[in-house]
Amino acid sequence: MLNSRTPLRSKLPTTGVSIFATMSRLALEHDAINLSQGFPDFDCAPELVDTVARCMREGNNQYAPMPGIPALREALAFKIERLYGRRYDPVTEITVTSGATEALFATLTALVHPGDEVLLFQPAYDSYVPAIQLSGGTPAFVTLRPPDYHIDWDEARRAITSRTRVIVLNSPHNPTGMILGADDMRELARVLEHTDAVVVADEAYEHIVFDGARHESMARHPAIAERAVVISSFGKTFHTTGWKIGWAAAPKALSAEVQSIHQWVTFAVNGAIQLAYAEFIRKDPECRSVGAFYQRKRDLFLSLINGSRFRPLPCRGTFFQMADYSAITSERDADFAMRLLMEHGVASIPPSSFLYGVDPGPILRFCFAKRDETLERAAERLRKV
Ligand code: PMP
Ligand code: GLN
Repeated sequence: MLNSRTPLRSKLPTTGVSIFATMSRLALEHDAINLSQGFPDFDCAPELVDTVARCMREGNNQYAPMPGIPALREALAFKIERLYGRRYDPVTEITVTSGATEALFATLTALVHPGDEVLLFQPAYDSYVPAIQLSGGTPAFVTLRPPDYHIDWDEARRAITSRTRVIVLNSPHNPTGMILGADDMRELARVLEHTDAVVVADEAYEHIVFDGARHESMARHPAIAERAVVISSFGKTFHTTGWKIGWAAAPKALSAEVQSIHQWVTFAVNGAIQLAYAEFIRKDPECRSVGAFYQRKRDLFLSLINGSRFRPLPCRGTFFQMADYSAITSERDADFAMRLLMEHGVASIPPSSFLYGVDPGPILRFCFAKRDETLERAAERLRKV
């Protein structure tokens, strides 16, 4: 039993419970339509489940190799080269992880030392800051502002110091739906000329870009890729967020550091699922249909909330729609999100959970990775607010 002589000193005293866990729990408890946590309410392809089942029946049920099953690392090397033109060595430069979350954690743990600064663009996905803090690093923030949340590169330059060790970028961007363009890549390459920082690129939504835009993977740009860890995940692409398999691709020296942490976090991840993904990636490395699929969902959701008092912000990728509610109330986002859930039965995410010391303004994030019928029911409620 813990008692007062056994002090429990939290390593993350201010972190609380993640907003995604909180809102999904409340949605369930209050029977609200859950447009909060980002996951589909429909199933993945039955063929994918059949392939996993086959791989299990074939006996792939013991520990997978620590850095990932060779067939999957080879398929990823093939896919990345085909899409983005950079060849990663499947043996030494690709690590399969337990989702993008573990790839981010292992990478930040590997790179950040006490006293180091990490440049973040906020709103920032909620797993970055705890990982930085646990390594004794300090986040430095550049704020992206609505409506389009583009990066002000002059501000970024000003935020870089001699202690900046890592720059984290996320495109397509959660929660704003912003995507980085070729101009951003040029600016980033220029910034890197004046710092030794390593880039950590969170590209979990790499295949979910809209309106004919091109995903600017860091892997496309040699000057950036040679000092970048490019992280992605299968969860969003295959509608399998619960399977938690992702990867980190980086030059050999960086990958060795990522693997040195990964082996002590999870050691290895589910082998049968890795084998199944390898088959699917080989067949369809472009994964093109998922972008069109979610663009249709976005457009449906936009047409359904048209006529409501929510004003949508631009959404160029991901499966999240930000909406301005200033025509409804002047409440803060967390308060309004709670009232929307309790009184109107729709769960959303308040962007303040992605911001540090900055007010997000009157904006909520809605996840449109839902069945049409779910979006219709939710929009019917939103139109009455
Ligand atoms: N990064 C971003 C921006 C995300 O939105 C998510 C989860 N949706 C992750 C990382 C984590 O991905 P995974 O579920 O593969 O761990
Ligand atoms: N990334 C998902 C979102 O933004 C949630 C993932 C999680 O629950 N940790 O909603």
